[in-house]
Amino acid sequence: MEHVTSNAGISFELTSEQKMLQESVRDFVAKEIIPQAEHYDRTAEFPWPIIEKGKQLGLTVLNIPEEYGGMGANTLEECIVGEELAYGCSGISTALTVNSLAALPIIVGGTEEQKKEWLGRLVDGQMAAYCVTEPGAGSNVVGMRTRAERRGDVYIVNGSKTFISNANVADFFTVFVVTDPASGHKGLSCFVIDAKSPGVSVSKHFDKLGQRAADTAEITFEDVEVPASNLISLQEGSGFLIAMKVFDKSRPPVASGAVGVARRAFEECLRYAQERETFGVPIYQHQAVGHMIADMAMNIEAARLLVWRAAAMVDAGGRNAKYASMAKAFAADAAMKITTDAVQVFGGYGYMREYPVEKLMRDVKVFQIYEGTSQIQRNIIVRELFRQ
Ligand SMILES: Cc1cc2nc3c(=O)[nH]c(=O)nc-3n(C[C@H](O)[C@H](O)[C@H](O)COP(=O)(O)OP(=O)(O)OC[C@H]3O[C@@H](n4cnc5c(N)ncnc54)[C@H](O)[C@@H]3O)c2cc1C
Repeated sequence: MEHVTSNAGISFELTSEQKMLQESVRDFVAKEIIPQAEHYDRTAEFPWPIIEKGKQLGLTVLNIPEEYGGMGANTLEECIVGEELAYGCSGISTALTVNSLAALPIIVGGTEEQKKEWLGRLVDGQMAAYCVTEPGAGSNVVGMRTRAERRGDVYIVNGSKTFISNANVADFFTVFVVTDPASGHKGLSCFVIDAKSPGVSVSKHFDKLGQRAADTAEITFEDVEVPASNLISLQEGSGFLIAMKVFDKSRPPVASGAVGVARRAFEECLRYAQERETFGVPIYQHQAVGHMIADMAMNIEAARLLVWRAAAMVDAGGRNAKYASMAKAFAADAAMKITTDAVQVFGGYGYMREYPVEKLMRDVKVFQIYEGTSQIQRNIIVRELFRQ
């Protein structure tokens, strides 16, 4: 893929190849996702037919380097795609893109052999899930308890992970565990675990407020034998560093999803505020309504710029932790406000299931929670601002 190479100041232009990518995903969303979004929201069925079509476009292997058979998209390109998919339905978008998240520990920390094996399986059509959160440890990653103990050539894994996206449909999981409980964050490691391993069980999916097309469930590991060769990087204690590198690359694309949902809400408002009349004029002509829509436009532009900046920084090989957190918190919080205001612009109709905006408001809430809550992003920004 042709990436942005200009270093002559700031460029807001996408390359022609990136524009083509954006157009092709926009087209896929219009044809395959938007017409089906309401069905999957109502039924909470997993959107297999859309996933299968997405696989043909390479959407489930977007960030896998071309040398391993993937699309070779950089983080900025993932953001371009992420915004378009979430514009159609952020639940279906999550279902389609969790593979990229689950692949990241392997991409940033895996050995050559591990990359060939596990990234290759995704290219062959398998699905994966990314497992950090536990019932007793969400924001506090270092508080996790799932334990892996070495016995000869295998590790024995015990514990459970919760709120795991695509848990029921994954063929394998990338799982963060404790290998040395005495060493705090230096005692964390990451393994690839085959979903069919004896001792692995996955719960029924949770019944959620939004993003209902995405499967979210709990995974329990009971004396699961995992080959030592599945330890990512083959080094115990490398898990925390891998998780931090993953967050730098995963937060901008997640934030781009919030931009996509916000843009959808804004465009629905543009249409509705011209059609709906009260007191003899279209409602956008009431300043209070017009200003809500102007605020939406400003915040979407600002959020996208932050997201793309955070993505471009990590693509250029720099540190982006502060910007990734700024992008994630700003985009998620802006999108929550924008979708809530969209319901307001639609008045009573906004509250009804037949109209599109209540779904957007339900769907977008989770952007303030997963991949680090909005509070945790602010903690990171403070830490980075005062880093000595
Ligand atoms: C739909 C969905 C899908 C998900 N998918 C995945 C997945 O695929 N893989 C995965 O590993 N996880 C996933 N998660 C889990 C998600 O990342 C966690 O829910 C999130 O990190 C928050 O953890 P928690 O739920 O334990 O909340 P807690 O950590 O218990 O936090 C509760 C509240 O306290 C606040 N808080 C906690 N600590 C602090 C602090 N130090 N300072 C300020 N405020 C604080 C939080 O911001 C929050 O408001 C998913 C969650 C959801 C809802």
